[in-house]
Amino acid sequence: MSHPPAPLRAPLEIEFDYTRSLGPVLSQFMTALADRRILGARGADGRVHAPPFEYDPVSADPPGELVAVGPEGTVVSWSWMPEPLEGQPLAGPFAWALIRLDGADTAMLHAVDAGSASAMRIGLRVRPRWAASRTGSIHDITCFEPADAPAAPDTQEQASREPDGMIITPVRLHYEHTASPGESAYLRGLAEGRLLGQRCGVCGHVYIPPRGTCPADGVPTDDEVELPDSGTVTSFCIVNVGYPGQRVTPPYVAAAVLLDGADIAFQHLVLGCDPGEVRMGMRVKAVWNDSGSISHFAPTGEPDATYETYARHL
Ligand SMILES: [Zn+2]
Repeated sequence: MSHPPAPLRAPLEIEFDYTRSLGPVLSQFMTALADRRILGARGADGRVHAPPFEYDPVSADPPGELVAVGPEGTVVSWSWMPEPLEGQPLAGPFAWALIRLDGADTAMLHAVDAGSASAMRIGLRVRPRWAASRTGSIHDITCFEPADAPAAPDTQEQASREPDGMIITPVRLHYEHTASPGESAYLRGLAEGRLLGQRCGVCGHVYIPPRGTCPADGVPTDDEVELPDSGTVTSFCIVNVGYPGQRVTPPYVAAAVLLDGADIAFQHLVLGCDPGEVRMGMRVKAVWNDSGSISHFAPTGEPDATYETYARHL
């Protein structure tokens, strides 16, 4: 008895930088951090918020002059991080804590380097550990540390650059994707220049890429079907918007292509003609890369498919 090949796995990383203006209030807060000062805002009810609010939660007015708070404070609540993730403030175990800075009535979130969870407690007095090189960002505070810890010698007092009032937040998601057995067969087929779908034994519909089960009947689809690399455009959109990392220059067409013999369309590019010429019913054929994947679909020049031939598959 032969075993099916193991499903394919690959690491996937989704990453982008989110850049935005800090606005007038948080710009002051961040700029002050470069100067080793922490600012809060006094609200209409007399309470001091640190970090400062942009709009007063009571009156909805922007704050007046900001007030200095801290730099020491008290842990209000905390949670231990035994195995820090990439991009977090500290490489070793630390606590995420809500810290109420002296002179403030609200708490701010930051990391506390206490050495061990047993050293953490509500009411712990902490002080900021300033970054040697400061740029006007929340990272100018490396972390907080117990106020009774030996103080590290001050190395550098200078802000390393003028804050520009912008914040760049890297957003990253790293995960391992495991393809289903059907998808794995589909991907292995692509590498050989073949398009492999699966047919449902109950309704007879052919799905590509295969999902492993029929969405209509809920039964496994293990009847493998090889499909031709020609098909029909069932619907499409013209992409006019550019974005970083885009591999095709707009305008271009992303289309739903119904392969001959398939019952569901799949998404692909339609290139090789003016975007304005692409239409529902247009006949197209795959253009393959040398590496064994489909670069895009291109018009074949055949007469258009009639609407009735693909109306059920839109
Ligand atoms: Zn079915």
